[in-house]
Amino acid sequence: MSLNGTYDDDNIFAKILRGDMPCVKLYEDEHTLAFLDVFPQSKGHTLVIPKNVQARNLLDIDESALAPLMHTVQRLTRAVNTALMPDGIVVTQFNGAPAGQTVFHLHVHIIPRYEGETLGAHAGGGMADMDELNALAAKIKAAL
Ligand code: 5GP
Repeated sequence: MSLNGTYDDDNIFAKILRGDMPCVKLYEDEHTLAFLDVFPQSKGHTLVIPKNVQARNLLDIDESALAPLMHTVQRLTRAVNTALMPDGIVVTQFNGAPAGQTVFHLHVHIIPRYEGETLGAHAGGGMADMDELNALAAKIKAAL
């Protein structure tokens, strides 16, 4: 059901897109929005989402909207690399609750990895410090 269902306008990312919920924004254009994950698995954990689409997951999105989404993913991955100089970067995306998806508006995770640092829990860690998120956002935005 969570893999094949109807789009729920009340999901948290739809609220962020409507401006009903705040986010630490990194980048926005006509098709996409990028912001920091508030329960980050590592420093600089970024999310990229499509705008103007009702796509729960990768199966739902039109090709025409997928291309700009992936363009923004690459752009943000490069900016995270330049700004934070991690040792690796995971780019990932979950489809359906059994696969690990918890928010049902399509999104791509950009998760920097640092040698010797354990990855935080997926969607289960603590909330980030807002001052720290804003400082990370300033660095990433400067590298865009
Ligand atoms: P999923 O589990 O669906 O692949 O990923 C959802 C992501 O959204 C998780 O990494 C979780 O930490 C993040 N998240 C959940 N609620 C919020 C929120 O209100 N704001 C932000 N910025 N991220 C959120």
